[in-house]
Formats: sequence, C-alpha cells, structure tokens
Amino acid sequence: MTTILSSNLGYPRIGEKREWKRAIEAFWQGDITEKALKDQTQKLRLDNLKKQKEQGIDLIPVGDFSFYDHVLDTAVAFNIIPKRFQHHNPSELSTYFAIARGEKDAVAAEMTKWFNTNYHYIVPELNDVSPQLVENRALYYYQEAKEELGIDGKPVIVGPVTFVKLAKGYQENELEIWINRLLPLYEQVLTELAEAGTRWVQIDEPILGTNLSEKELQLVEKVYQRLDNNVSGIQLIIQTYFETVQHYQRIVKLPVHGIGLDFVHGDNLSLIQKYGFPADKVLGAGIINGRNVWRANLEDKYQLLEAIKEAANPQSLVVQGSCSLLHVPVTKQLEEKLDTIVKDGLSFADEKLVEITLLSSAIKEGKQSVASAFEASENAINRLDQSNYRNQSVEVTKQNVKRNVPFAERKVQQQKDLNLPILPTTTIGSLPQTTEVKRTRTKWRKGDISDEQYNQFVQAETRKWIQIQEDLELDVLVHGEFERTDMVEYFGEKLKGFAVTEYGWVQSYGSRCVKPPLLAGNVEWEKPITVKEIAYAQSLTEKPVKGMLTGPVTILNWSFVHEELPRFTVQDQIGLALEKEVLALEEAGVKIIQVDEPALREGLPLDKLKWPAYFDAAVRAFGLATSTVKPETQIHTHMCYSEFGEIYEAIDGLDADVISIETSRSHGEMVETFEVNHYKKDIGLGVYDIHSPRVPSVAELEVNIKRALETIEVEQFWINPDCGLKTRKEAETIAALEKMVEAAKLAREKY
Ligand code: GLN
Ligand code: ZN
Repeated sequence: MTTILSSNLGYPRIGEKREWKRAIEAFWQGDITEKALKDQTQKLRLDNLKKQKEQGIDLIPVGDFSFYDHVLDTAVAFNIIPKRFQHHNPSELSTYFAIARGEKDAVAAEMTKWFNTNYHYIVPELNDVSPQLVENRALYYYQEAKEELGIDGKPVIVGPVTFVKLAKGYQENELEIWINRLLPLYEQVLTELAEAGTRWVQIDEPILGTNLSEKELQLVEKVYQRLDNNVSGIQLIIQTYFETVQHYQRIVKLPVHGIGLDFVHGDNLSLIQKYGFPADKVLGAGIINGRNVWRANLEDKYQLLEAIKEAANPQSLVVQGSCSLLHVPVTKQLEEKLDTIVKDGLSFADEKLVEITLLSSAIKEGKQSVASAFEASENAINRLDQSNYRNQSVEVTKQNVKRNVPFAERKVQQQKDLNLPILPTTTIGSLPQTTEVKRTRTKWRKGDISDEQYNQFVQAETRKWIQIQEDLELDVLVHGEFERTDMVEYFGEKLKGFAVTEYGWVQSYGSRCVKPPLLAGNVEWEKPITVKEIAYAQSLTEKPVKGMLTGPVTILNWSFVHEELPRFTVQDQIGLALEKEVLALEEAGVKIIQVDEPALREGLPLDKLKWPAYFDAAVRAFGLATSTVKPETQIHTHMCYSEFGEIYEAIDGLDADVISIETSRSHGEMVETFEVNHYKKDIGLGVYDIHSPRVPSVAELEVNIKRALETIEVEQFWINPDCGLKTRKEAETIAALEKMVEAAKLAREKY
C-alpha cells in the first residue's frame, strides 16, 4: 500500500505585502537595526510556517528563508567568500550583503538567472576560498520551527552538484575536486540534522534536468553513494524541477530515500510509465504548477496523480508543487480590483497549498471527500474558459519576419536621415524616477489627482529631461519612461488580453520584486500605447528621440501566461500586437525605435536539444514586431548582461540595427563574444555601471571605450551607460552622463 503525504518545496519569502523587502531595504538605509530586521523577518517566517501547518501540509520546508538568495546563503555558510570580501567576518550579515550588493572598493558578485526562471542568484566564486562550515543554516531553521511552533520541518538545501555547477572560478576538469571539497561539509550538515531528530531533508538538484555528461553523471552517483555511506538516520529526497530529468533510469537508482519529479514541465510521466519506479522509494509528485498563477483543474490533476501512482507504485507518494512556490505571489485574497472571473481562475502560493492538500485527500480518502472543492475548481475554470479572456482564435498567419533590405544598405539610409557623429551617445531608456515621480503616480492611482494633472506632471518631467539631455549634448535622446513603473507591467496594462494585479509580486533578485501581468487569452493591440509620450518628447527637440517598447519575448517571459495556451503562438501574437505599435510610432515620425529584450534568455529550456526551437521562435516574434518598418527606420534592441556565447546566433538573427548590452556585471568577459563572431551591426556596450551612485571618471570611461574598440570597429560602436537609470538619483546621473559625453568627444578625436 502506498502512503500518501502532502508537501511544499518552498514558500515565497517576500510577505503578502512585501514586508520582507521593506524590512531589508530599511536596514540597508540605516533606518532599522540588524536586530529589528531579524525580528521582523522572523515573524514573517514563522507566520509563513504557521499557514502551511494550518493548511495541513505534512512536509513543511524550513531553511527556504533567505535575506537575499539561497545560493548565496549556501556559499556563505560554507565560507565561500570572494577574495575581495575576505577581510570581513564571514558570519556577519554585513558581509553577506556586501557580496550581494558590492561595496566601495569591491564589485558585487555576479548575479545570474536561476535556470529558466526570472529569479536571479548570486554566482559563488570558488577561486581563492577555503570552505568550512561557518553555520549550519538548515539546522538553525529546523530548530527554530520546532521550538517556536512545534513543527517538525523538512530542511531544504541546495545540493552539492547543482551548487558547484552553478559556481564559477574553477576549471571544468576540477568539478569533482570541488564537489569532494564540499562533501564533508554537506555530511556534517546532514549528520547534525539527523542528531537533532530531523527526519526528512529535501536536497535540491535541479541540475539533473540539464544535459550532464557521462562523467558528470558518474560523479552524481559517487556523491550520493558517499552521502549514503557517511550519513545515517535521515530520509533524503533528491528534488528536481523545471524539466524532464535526464538519465532517469540512473537517477532513480541513486541510494536515497526518494526522488522528486516535476510533472508539469517536461515529460517525466512518460519516463515512469516506460521504466517504472523503484518500489522501495518515495516519489515526490510535483503536479501543482509552481511557476504559474492559474488555478489547477483538480479533476485533471487527480487523473494525473492516479496515472503516476499506477505507473510508479511507489512506497510513498508525496503530493507537491512542481517546484518551490518562490516563483508565484503569496495570496490572491488581497486582490480587489480584478474581474471576479479572473480572480476565481487564479491560484497563488496559499491557494496552491490548498490544492495540494485537497488532492492528497482525494487520493487518500477518495474524491467524494472533497467533491465540492472539485466542483468549484471546475466551475471557475469553465467560467474563465468561456469568458472573453480565453475564447478567441489563436491563429497567427503572417509570415513576414525579416526586413527586406540588408543591414549595410539600411545603415546608409538611416545615417542620411539621422546624421549622427561617429561613436554616437545615448542612454537605454529610463531616467531617474524621483520620489516625486513615484509619489505622483501613487496619487493618480488612488484618484487623488486627475488624469490630466498626472499627464501634465509626466510631460513636465520629460520636458525637463529633454532639456538636460540637450545640454549634455547627447546624440540620441529618450523620453525617460516616467509614465512606467515596470517595463512589462506597463504594456500588460495597455494590451488587451492581460490583467494586472495589485499585490501579485514575486522576487526577482535580492529585495527586488516584479509584478508580472497575467495573460489568460489572446493579446490584441487596441490603440497606441506609447505614441503620445514619445511624440511629445520628439516635439521638444531637433535631435532624434528613441521610441521605447518592450519586446515580445520579454513580455511573454515576464508574464504569467495561462499554461494551456501555446507559448510560441502567444509570443507571436504579442509580436504582432507590438508591430502595430511600432508602425504607429513610425507613422508619428519616430525615426529610431528600441524594442527591449532583456529576457531573451529567460525562457531557455534546461534541455539544450530544445534550444534551437526556442531561439527560432524568439527571433520570429521579434521579427513580427519589427521587420515591416521602412529601411530608414532604425531598430534598436537592448539586453541585460547574460552569457552571450551560446545565444550569439539568435542575437544576430534579431537583425536589429543597433543593440545595446549591459556590461558592468560581466567582469569584462563579454566583448570577446562579439569579437570572435565578427559581429557587423551597430553595438553599444555599457561604458559604466549604473548600479552604484559613484560617478565614473573620464579616464575610466576612456579605458572602457578603448577596451571595446580593440575588438569593435569605430563605425559600429555606440557610447551608452548600462540600463536602469530609473533607479539612480538625478544629480549623480547628470554628473555621470557629463563625463560619458566628454569621454565620447575625446574618443572621436582619437579614433
Ligand atoms: N529601457 C529600460 C531602461 O533603460 C531597459 C530596462 C532593462 O534593461 N531591464 O531601464
Ligand atoms: Zn538591461
């Protein structure tokens, strides 16, 4: 007989109203003490645990809490502190935050995407470190839950293979050495947990959903063999997520108590149906989508669970989310403005916990025990399906996705119109959003000021900044994005098919949260979105003002798209909707249009075999949006820093006349990609880091420009800062841009 349990893999840290973010930022500002920060976050943490207990979750995660990021937590607990921060005491919170955020003479550690999510982790640096166990975090949080709430929690830890694979600062052939160096620490953590009475431990190894080599796979086997030999008294569950587990047959044989699989993404069901599942193991069945906010069809999930149970027939079946609920907002209860049809169709973290326990009861005690909940789920889903949010056709027929004049010719025609100097200067779009900007928007949202007053305010900001940009002698100006809170939410509010929430925040990195719009059905462009603001800005100056849009791939990846919609089709639809906006801008006389794609990599499947299809679709959607402009209209795109080597072809395929790329956090590794590939189109690599208030010196800027011009032709290069000026103060932005223009002028004389 299979026993049935319910489990959660991780709970959102941020709090219902982002209390976590507020506390951390207040601490950074010096407004609250470290003790206050710890007290406030502890309260939040315990409340979260209580909720899960009240909901009847059997295996409640502990140690999933973090002050910034769980990978950084793991690194710091193991004394893996980058050399430039080693003069600090490793157990101090200030050290931890310094690594994440940088400090005066030391740049922050690199931050990168957590697999194919919009969560970013801090990349551990293994060079020059001597690992040792500074703190057994898992034990600390396990004991806290036990003592404070009587909860016998399930500690969650980042597994050794995933951890070292995600780290940098070592050679490929040193993977095993590094894992072996860390294993004793893992053994100590687990042994201490066992001694404290912990029964279950969840060890996250999402890396098992990626393409590992045979050697790496053997290493995985050695690692878990060794943990099995050296640690006793603990039930270890290896948790995978986001993808079909590669090498299923070998992974399920690992000497651990159980394996957790994602049954929402990838196709793990086929694997258990084909190969079965070891009779003596626990199967964690991730059936509730931890990456999406739409309500589960309980009947479908029940059938899925039955199919899993029948095929696997495990010793014990654990009903759980497909991954940690870190990736979804906390609760839908606070939403008051959503259409009830949409709201009824939603399920955030708290509602997902309910779905998990309902399904585990249904399997345990029969469906009739929860019949009314099943019915409610079905009704809500039917209502949403039949509403005009969903029931439209999803055909995309247009085939034209390429510009019909080649870049070299376009460049000549564009230059005739634009008449820019060599090494033209520009910025990436947003300009400082002062407290006044944010405060005025809130007033307008609350109805304290009229649309008219708000518009006038936004126009006045734009006017002020057009003047500043002219005085600075920048070549290509921007309107400043003062009307936008967030580059995706803004378009979500304006395009038909989307809904936006009030509190649907999820953590993106550190204390930064995003509020992805919801997309239940087809996307349509109804009327111009940005034309008024851009045309106004253009009317104030002779210099070209860039139109500023967010691209289809980014809008898709940063939205919660209904899981039943075909993603690539939706992406095409967004592309077509944006094409209308692009053409409306062109029609209004805008000569340069920037279509930002910072999230191009974001949706990349874990399985590399699926990459070409993903890139083809991305290039196609971008083409749908941008390819029908006149040859003399200059299309720009922008990407934030990521690893570009592997995606170079897609970048080239976008066929943007100008691409700007955030460079500061790449630690100089990036220019090479464009060098080796002999990139031909125009390109701007951020010449200074906007993440810090520091104003760069002209000399420093010249070095960065020179470095880029060693590999990129003068005729190709644009001079711009990194993205995100909206987060900076006005004075420091002006001071820094002044230096940048000065450096550009000097460079024009030299090259
Ligand atoms: N246009 C945006 C800006 O300058 C781009 C933001 C981003 O790259 N994420 O802020
Ligand atoms: Zn960017």
